[in-house]
Amino acid sequence: MAFEVQRIGVIGAGQMGAGIAQVAAGAGIEVFLNDVNDELISRGLQGIHHALEKQVQKGKLESAQAEAMRKRLHKACTLADLCQVDLVVEAATEREALKLEIFKGLDQAVDKRAILATNTSSIPITRIAAVTRRPEKVIGMHFMNPVPVMKLVEVIRGLPTSDETTQQTVALAQRLGKTVAFSRDFPGFIVNRILLPMLNEAMTALMEGVGTPEDIDTAMKLGTNVPMGPLALADLIGLDTCLAIMEVLHRGHGDKYRPCPLLRQYVDAGWLGKKTGRGFFTYPD
Ligand code: NAD
Repeated sequence: MAFEVQRIGVIGAGQMGAGIAQVAAGAGIEVFLNDVNDELISRGLQGIHHALEKQVQKGKLESAQAEAMRKRLHKACTLADLCQVDLVVEAATEREALKLEIFKGLDQAVDKRAILATNTSSIPITRIAAVTRRPEKVIGMHFMNPVPVMKLVEVIRGLPTSDETTQQTVALAQRLGKTVAFSRDFPGFIVNRILLPMLNEAMTALMEGVGTPEDIDTAMKLGTNVPMGPLALADLIGLDTCLAIMEVLHRGHGDKYRPCPLLRQYVDAGWLGKKTGRGFFTYPD
């Protein structure tokens, strides 16, 4: 079936939701951005406007293009405002109970032909699909952070996801300039199943006094040729999100994925990384 996504809904205007909204608007798609209140939606939109302004100043984007992108970004204060979208990408906080509630609500509110995709980092797609009356239209569409920069989208089919839904999701990812890797629906998929244990181990090394945060990150950057050290990367992802992913991996794959106690303590303290200004490093801005 010929199908071109023209309008998408994005649930969650945090770092991932805002990034997805920005990239979609850049691809000529009308975007309807939702969060728990108007203030959070406005904050997400302001972040996108700021990012576009910076690109204009650097000469990477024409100001007319930035203006056109801004016009494609709309507030969706309730799920009912998403009734006419072709596809939704859910990018709310990584908590299973919350995502199940959101998908029940989306299933009621959104046109029954629309695809419901989730940007979850780890939660099984099959379980999310099961709370809707359109499980064949539910799929994992896992973007990387920061979305405008990172090329990968992991596409994860749940058990009931149809071929048609998969083809349409892949087509959308490609239209957004991304490369797709497919993962089976196992907790953490491919990227986080492999990445998060490394970040967790860096935290354990810090807890055991093997090195300072600076030494651990310098050692890993220069020793393994990765662009960011594991502790800085954990701060960028968000330590609450890292803990949520580790808990899913631990439940799904067993003991070797046990979350580091230091990670738990930082989350208890509200030190969530870059987004709160403090994690393993501090971020004055
Ligand atoms: P974030 O904390 O920056 O943003 C989450 C947003 O969801 C917040 O603005 C919050 O208010 C909103 N939210 C919470 N409940 C909601 C509800 N009921 N309805 C609408 N919005 C709601 O988190 P993030 O880093 O953007 O992560 C979002 C999702 O993307 C998570 O599932 C996460 O696992 C996934 N993800 C994160 C990364 C990363 O590096 N941070 C990478 C890939 C995927």
